[in-house]
Amino acid sequence: SDTLVITNLHCSVEGKQILRGVNLTVRRGETHALMGPNGSGKSTLGLVIMGHPKYVVTEGTITLNGEDLHEKSPDERARRGLFYAFQRPVAIPGVKLADFLRHAATNVRNPERKEGEELMPMRDFRKELKAKMEQLRMNPDFARRYVNDGFSGGEMKRAEILQMAMLQPKIAVLDETDSGLDADAVRLASQSIAEIGREKMGLLIITHHDKLLEHNPPEFTHVMLGGRIVETGGIELAAELHGQGYDRIRRTYPDAA
Ligand code: ADP
Ligand code: MG
Ligand code: MG
Repeated sequence: SDTLVITNLHCSVEGKQILRGVNLTVRRGETHALMGPNGSGKSTLGLVIMGHPKYVVTEGTITLNGEDLHEKSPDERARRGLFYAFQRPVAIPGVKLADFLRHAATNVRNPERKEGEELMPMRDFRKELKAKMEQLRMNPDFARRYVNDGFSGGEMKRAEILQMAMLQPKIAVLDETDSGLDADAVRLASQSIAEIGREKMGLLIITHHDKLLEHNPPEFTHVMLGGRIVETGGIELAAELHGQGYDRIRRTYPDAA
C-alpha cells in the first residue's frame, strides 16, 4: 500500500536546527496521532513533508512509495498524493475556493498536467464538489468565496477538510485542524475527517484535543520533544497525554528538550 517513510530527518529553518532525527512510517489506511508540547517541531515536520521552501533538510530522507521527495516541489508532492492542512491556513485573495479546488483536483487526477492545460470538465467538477459539500454539510455559497479571505477560524478548517475530500490524498497531515473551533465545530470536523479519511488515506493527525482522536482512533501515537519522536505507543498513550500532559515525557527524556 502507499507508504510515507521518514528516516533520520534533520531539518533547519532560518539556520536554526529544529528536527533532530525523526523516524516515522505512515501507510495508507493507518491513523497516527502526533503529539508533543508547543514548539517541539510538529508543524515543522508537516511543513517539511510538504516541501515548504523555508524548511531545509540537512540530513535524512522522506520517501513516498520508495521515491525520494527531496528535489520535489510542494506541487509535485501534492500530485503524488501528499496533503498538508495548515495550522494557520493562508488567504489567497482574488481566487475563489471552487476555482482553487478545480485546479488542485485536476492536478492530482492528472499528475502530468502542465500549467495552462485543460482543467477537469466543469460539469464533473461541479457535481463532485456539490456531493462533497453535501456530505460535509456545507453551504454551497461557501465555495464562491475567496480562499480563506475573511474566513473565520472554523471556516478555514472547513475549507481544508473540503480540500482533502476533493483531493483524496494518499497521506494527509492535519495540523491542529481542530484548533480555534467551538465544541460543535470540533465534533463536525472530527466526523467529517472520519467519513472521508477512514481506510482510504494515511492520516497523521497533530492535535492537542481528544475529540478528533475519539472519532479517528489512532493505531499509533507519537510524542515529539525537542525535534525528535521520543516515544511511540497506541491509543492509550494519547489518552495518557490528554489526561496528564507532558510531565512524564519531560522527566523520562530530559536531554531531548
Ligand atoms: P509545534 O508545531 O510543535 O508547536 P513548530 O514546528 O511550530 O512546533 O516549531 C518548532 C520550533 O521551530 C519552535 O521553536 C519555533 O519557534 C521554530 N520555528 C518554526 N518555524 C519557524 C520559522 N519559520 N522561523 C523561525 N523559527 C521557526
Ligand atoms: Mg504549536
Ligand atoms: Mg504547530
